[in-house]
Amino acid sequence: MKVLVILTGGTISMVRDAHSGSLCPADLHTFKAYVPEMFAGDNHVDMMPFDPLLDSSDLNPDSWRQMAQMVQEHYDEYDGFVILHGTDTMSYSASALSFMLEHLRKPVVFTGSQLPVGVLRSDAKENLLTAIEIAGAYDNDGNAIVPEVTVYMDGELYRGNRTTKRNAEHFSAFTSYNYPALARAGVHITYNRQLIHYGESLQPLHVYDQFDTRVAILKLFPGITEVVVEAVLNIPELRGVVLETFGAGNAPTHEWLYRALRNAVDRGVVVVNKTQCNTGSVSMGHYAVSLNLLKAGVISGYDITTEALLTKMMHLLGENPNDIETVKQKLSSSLRGELTIG
Ligand code: ASP
Repeated sequence: MKVLVILTGGTISMVRDAHSGSLCPADLHTFKAYVPEMFAGDNHVDMMPFDPLLDSSDLNPDSWRQMAQMVQEHYDEYDGFVILHGTDTMSYSASALSFMLEHLRKPVVFTGSQLPVGVLRSDAKENLLTAIEIAGAYDNDGNAIVPEVTVYMDGELYRGNRTTKRNAEHFSAFTSYNYPALARAGVHITYNRQLIHYGESLQPLHVYDQFDTRVAILKLFPGITEVVVEAVLNIPELRGVVLETFGAGNAPTHEWLYRALRNAVDRGVVVVNKTQCNTGSVSMGHYAVSLNLLKAGVISGYDITTEALLTKMMHLLGENPNDIETVKQKLSSSLRGELTIG
């Protein structure tokens, strides 16, 4: 199998300079030196780097476009893709790519590491080699075993748009609170094929590349004041808001909060309710304290992550600039397995 490794940057792409002791970007030769097995296994592997390599805090929709374009340009040449990426914003990029790549039939596996590739105890080697194996995994009928955008790290493979970086210290940096792992890598890689999405469509890969970044996240807290809420909701040209609420999607019952949200929705701002809890779902109307949100026209985000909701909103607003009803309808449904309704 042929696998293309796209190197965007992050800790995995670092080595310690022998003289200065500081971390500097690695290149193809560094990977050949530190992970020679990468190019020697059953898969034929090529690597293409971003120039310059970036810490993932510096990535943005242009970077997502660049990753998607690289996948699209080389889609027919390779059986699978691995994207090496800093862990800090990997869940945002993996979510964005999942929405950008429609009719995907090949694996796109994000991975990174908590320690640089050029450090003795690094987790880079295992993450990279297993990600390559997953990207090149096909069944006897010639179909990719995981034709999705995923995140692999420390033995667990997750649907990318379900992940969250939960740990800045341990090797298992990611989790997926609301959807089980698609595969586990121990002595063997065990795939859970009932959980993997196999699209029926035989249409060619389509790449969506428009994003509208005029969005905001408004996190509620006990004691939040009208000035704060109004300041966010009245941002000029605002198009979408991720409203981070309590528990099952609850909010204070102040009349001013209802009015501020109602006014924003009436102006055409899309407001989606995302619970601050990691696990579980928004259920508007379950408690009286969420009825005002329903009345104000706030949409349920169900059990979606903030990373997936924000990127999905940017993607839908970018692709449907004059069709707010389509944006709302798609935000309330699952496009790539990013949410479960009910
Ligand atoms: N700051 C790094 C990044 O996200 C951290 C990492 O790669 O783990 O690019």
